[in-house]
Amino acid sequence: MVPRVRFAPSPTGFLHVGGARTALFNWLYARHTGGVLVLRIEDTDRERSTETHTQVILDGLGWLGISCDEGPFFQGAYGDRHRDDAERLLKEGKAYRCFCTREELDSQRARAEAGGQAFRYDGRCARLTADEVAGRTAAGEPSTIRFRVPDEELAWDDAVHGRITFQGRDLDDFVILRSDDTAIYNMAVVSDDIAMDITHVIRGDDHISNTPKQIALYRALGRPLPVFAHVPMILGTDGKKLSKRHGATAVGDYQEQGILPLAMRNFLALLGWSPGGDREIVPEDEMIRLFTLEGIQKKAAVFDPAKLEWMNGEYISALPAEELLEPVRRRLGQLGVGHEGRDLRPIIDAVKSRSRTILEMAERVAVRLDPSRSTPDAKGEALIKKMGAAFGANLRLVVQALGALSPDGWQAEPILGTLKALAEARGLKLGDVMQPVRVALTGSTVSEPVNELLAVVGRPRSLARLEEMAAPSHGESGAA
Ligand code: GLU
Repeated sequence: MVPRVRFAPSPTGFLHVGGARTALFNWLYARHTGGVLVLRIEDTDRERSTETHTQVILDGLGWLGISCDEGPFFQGAYGDRHRDDAERLLKEGKAYRCFCTREELDSQRARAEAGGQAFRYDGRCARLTADEVAGRTAAGEPSTIRFRVPDEELAWDDAVHGRITFQGRDLDDFVILRSDDTAIYNMAVVSDDIAMDITHVIRGDDHISNTPKQIALYRALGRPLPVFAHVPMILGTDGKKLSKRHGATAVGDYQEQGILPLAMRNFLALLGWSPGGDREIVPEDEMIRLFTLEGIQKKAAVFDPAKLEWMNGEYISALPAEELLEPVRRRLGQLGVGHEGRDLRPIIDAVKSRSRTILEMAERVAVRLDPSRSTPDAKGEALIKKMGAAFGANLRLVVQALGALSPDGWQAEPILGTLKALAEARGLKLGDVMQPVRVALTGSTVSEPVNELLAVVGRPRSLARLEEMAAPSHGESGAA
């Protein structure tokens, strides 16, 4: 039988890191096994579900390259089936009508808590006679349908956690259908998973406590259980559950921050799964080939933004400039940096290996398109101060020497030769020639090799900027 898995997000918020990871594991499992991934939008919470959130979730999945084979289906469309399933359980005596009002239940709960006890529904409506139920229903009294949890073992072999056992006697009889005929989550999910022939339920381990209830419903409906795989929760680097306090948690935020989708996906895959060994960069085909539910770890995963940036940097370095053009152009557009008639590819190649995000890379590209955008950072300022008059003086020597190169000769190799010859002729350390150029053009003391930097910035812009930075206001004033 072909495995059928599902991703079942509630559109009550953005696509968060945890949800995206659940979607990814389902996708990887489906692709690994040749199975089917169903997308089901669980929009039954009408107050909190919005179309905007649904769209954000669909966009996020698309951005990450997580393709679904069936759906999106909308849970809200299956209300009739959910009700029919609940009523079938009622007819078969596996569920009962409950006339307890919210107020009554609240006061029962308050009493239990005042007595220092956890609230449990006392099952009073389970003891109503058929005549009482018929009478109260005929009188128009609203009622819910409650599932009669059998006193039996409710256990399963979780594909991640191993055997997990609950006892029915420890669970309350729970509501499956509200008085307005809409199903409660556990009923809707089981009804849908059965109707959609789901064979493997892969989801966050915050759903472990729902699973015994769902198992009881499967049994009551006479259906075989799917395999359950509960994936570990995600913690921040401080060991606390990942939340907004840790910074961005929505997938869209990372897109904004210049994270590449492939890097994000690779990073998410390693939150709770490992391809074995200490491999970190795992291409898509490898990920699919190696992914198994058994390979998912039990212990919580840690979301380390620094690692994500590192991984993103690895992806950026490895990608050909051609594939980085589009995101860099988009970002330059946002920065209002024009680049008409300029070939961005050599510039991207020059900066990509030192950039951890698209935003950082686009900033560097912008500075190389127009070095007058740069301002010295703290280390750049320190260098200017330390060199004093030599900063401007050396820049002037560089302008003179490089000015002798023809526009055609403005290439990395001859530039390097010229700078070396200059240093030698003047008895200067090569660093004292190179570093002022680097700071003048980029503001930073770290960059690609200076001759390559000069080559991508181009002759006129380089010479103009070096001259500008050689002016007395830079350097000599700090010479005192
Ligand atoms: N809609 C549920 C949620 O977003 C998921 C239900 C499930 O996977 O069983 O948490």
